[in-house]
Amino acid sequence: MIDFDYIKARDVGDAVGQIARDPNARFIAGGTNLIDLMKENVARPTRLIDITGLPLTRIEETAGGGLRIGALVANSDLAYDERIEKRYPLLSSALLAGASAQLRNMASTGGNLLQRTRCLYFYDTTTACNKREPGSGCSALDGFNRMHAILGWSEACIATHPSDMCVALAALEATVHVTGPQGDRAIPFAAFHRLPGETPEIDTDLAQDEIITAVELPPEGFSRNYTYLKIRDRLSYAFALVSVAAGLELEGGTITAARLALGGVAHKPWRVPEAERSLLGKAPAPEAFGTAADMMLHDAAGFAHNSFKVPLARRAIVRALAQASAGTPQSQSVKVIL
Ligand code: SF4
Repeated sequence: MIDFDYIKARDVGDAVGQIARDPNARFIAGGTNLIDLMKENVARPTRLIDITGLPLTRIEETAGGGLRIGALVANSDLAYDERIEKRYPLLSSALLAGASAQLRNMASTGGNLLQRTRCLYFYDTTTACNKREPGSGCSALDGFNRMHAILGWSEACIATHPSDMCVALAALEATVHVTGPQGDRAIPFAAFHRLPGETPEIDTDLAQDEIITAVELPPEGFSRNYTYLKIRDRLSYAFALVSVAAGLELEGGTITAARLALGGVAHKPWRVPEAERSLLGKAPAPEAFGTAADMMLHDAAGFAHNSFKVPLARRAIVRALAQASAGTPQSQSVKVIL
């Protein structure tokens, strides 16, 4: 039994003030990850600050032609918002590929960004885990590592980030808006999550006393030529072995803009800008897709049980780009891999 205080934040300023006073406090919104972590004794907050009453539940137009998504917008509300479905279907598709309907009803946009790895050793307090207990070791390195990273890992941690939504947000080049005691700041999505390095206990650039207030989408949503392809052990309620968010712009049979992000392969959504640039000016064809895939996976290296992810990711990238260019996106709603 974990003994903790519970308070409800009155407004964003109150929430920041409360968490700044207690380094062991945690915000709680949907609780779809934090409650599991508390049940397993992995997270032991002294205080839960309930932020569900804060006015962060709207999706609003921005002056620049994009959308600003409040941090408390539920994943299901976001996925089925008409503006998201029409202008950012890549995001809608990724959201619907994640978790279950019940979890999407509870999970918040901000919480999705902050969910922690599903590495089994992280949740098993009888095993060594540098992310849970820095300096204790990594049980996955020589353990069962089928779900683990093939890119960007370190000797300290080979965990993957579990989110689908974040893979789409990385490809869309979203911006994360946060507020802390020093005021507001905006974090480019690519800089929000971090690689494990020597400090795998730190997942993101968010400071302990900061709160996510919104995620902003730029105007370009790649709504004509996109796909979110998720390869997993079953077609529902499973984390990605490999996922690909792909967005293309085509003019006269030539690629004029390209975005690619991978999920299930690293500690953060994986992007390689050079791979995207390699597609520009090319016809949408298997050779160009293969070259981009090879660039995305240039530094990939697996472990005893997950080396299959390297060729799987290559095929998934090529297939996702082919689907995107043909305008036949992976359909998450009918649970069919095209
Ligand atoms: Fe812990 Fe990371 Fe190793 Fe998993 S991969 S056991 S989270 S240090």
